[in-house]
Amino acid sequence: MEGTSDSSALWNLTLQHSPIGMALVAPNGRLLKVNPAMADMLGFAVEDLTKRGFQEITHPDDLAEDLALVTQTLAGEIDSYRLRKRYLHAEGYVVWGDLSVALVRGQDGLPLHFISQILDVTEHQEQAERLKAAHADVERERQALEAIFETVGVGLLLIGQDGRYERTNRRHQEAIRVAFPDGHAGEAGQLGHVYHLDGRTPMSREEMPSYRAVQGEEFDDYSYWAGADPRARSAYSTSARQVRNASGERIGATLAYQEITELMRAVQVKDEFVAAVSHELRTPLTTVLGYLEILAGRGDLPADVTRQLRVVQRNAARLESLVSDLLHVGRAGDGDLRLRPEPVDLVALVRQAGEVARPVAGASGVSLTLDVPDRLVTVVDEQRIRQVLDNLLSNAVKYSETNDSVTVVLRQTEGGVELEVRDTGIGIAPDEVDQVFDRFFRGGDALAKHIPGTGLGLDIVGSIVAAHEGTISVESEVGRGSTFLVTLPLLEA
Ligand code: ADP
Repeated sequence: MEGTSDSSALWNLTLQHSPIGMALVAPNGRLLKVNPAMADMLGFAVEDLTKRGFQEITHPDDLAEDLALVTQTLAGEIDSYRLRKRYLHAEGYVVWGDLSVALVRGQDGLPLHFISQILDVTEHQEQAERLKAAHADVERERQALEAIFETVGVGLLLIGQDGRYERTNRRHQEAIRVAFPDGHAGEAGQLGHVYHLDGRTPMSREEMPSYRAVQGEEFDDYSYWAGADPRARSAYSTSARQVRNASGERIGATLAYQEITELMRAVQVKDEFVAAVSHELRTPLTTVLGYLEILAGRGDLPADVTRQLRVVQRNAARLESLVSDLLHVGRAGDGDLRLRPEPVDLVALVRQAGEVARPVAGASGVSLTLDVPDRLVTVVDEQRIRQVLDNLLSNAVKYSETNDSVTVVLRQTEGGVELEVRDTGIGIAPDEVDQVFDRFFRGGDALAKHIPGTGLGLDIVGSIVAAHEGTISVESEVGRGSTFLVTLPLLEA
């Protein structure tokens, strides 16, 4: 007997201190005994809870399942069961519990009571539900992105750090077929029918957009022609961005391919049109200028007619210079700028250009200084370099104001020649500096102040300098002036 009372005391002690909810439940469902953990879990005092049946504290939706298991147990079909079910907290909210139930029978085999243990898994359950909801959100997002990925009118490519293609959309696959009719191995830098914008120079492996992106570069509007047949080619403009993981390491790159064939063809047609028109204008203009020259040389015309003739002559000459600029641009655009190189004294050329610019500078109150050595001979195309000097000098004067100054410096350096055209004029806005050499580009200030021009001069200067294997750069500050620096190789005759 003593042993029994000892073990019952021990049992009570365990019951009192267990972190798991425990209850002794009568076969009819009444709670005979509950421990503090269980009362706590459901928000009742221990005495209040023992007045109830388990049916009352079970969520109505889970009751039938529990009752069925109780019935099965009482009928002797099973000895025990486990169930995850919802309980109702005294304050009305749901508590999730993992319930284990075992039936204790008397010596006669009749049911005495159930021993129930309940582990509070509310937090666990809620977390599982949150996770499920989060998964559903992610999945929805993925589906939406997938739909966008496939429907946008732009080719998209995701590349791994090792250069392998990880994902491409339908548009990108179309672009791939144009450039790689014999198939693509899905790795960055494969060579195919891909050409630079001149339509002739094939792109090297290092120049391919995908290869550059894998090397860590980011770029926009990097364009090329793709396709073997020049008449049926497509043009693409590409951009690349790096993809990084949460700790900022590069894990790959994304590329977008926008088809711009129609735009490129339109630009081509425009260039061809400009070239054709300028060519057609040139012949009659030459005739007009020739006759004007003859007329101007006649001494028997009334003074007012001679004056009017001079105006016509000046404007016809201006028209001719515009037409030859347009022709030049057309040829340079075709990569067809043929030079007639010969030894030329650049000092003499600079002096002549100074003489041409001086009257206009004088009329605008701009001073002109030349800083040149005695002689500096190198091999260049004289006509073209004259064009460079005239353009740079006339810009320096044109974009200056009264009391400004223009300085031309010519000097020999190690292995080369430097020509500097400096002015203290209006300067160039920082966001425009990079564009001044673009064809037809005109600065905002030039337009606002109605300074005449076509935006062709520096494009022509740039192409002539490049054809001589020289360089040109500009530094400028708004209100302080601009400095254009040309370098040319120093060549022996
Ligand atoms: P244009 O002078 O006919 O406009 P250019 O190609 O010669 O065309 O020059 C392009 C643009 O660069 C000009 O419109 C002007 O905004 C700017 N620019 C060129 N030279 C100068 C200069 N010396 N000072 C300030 N702006 C200049």
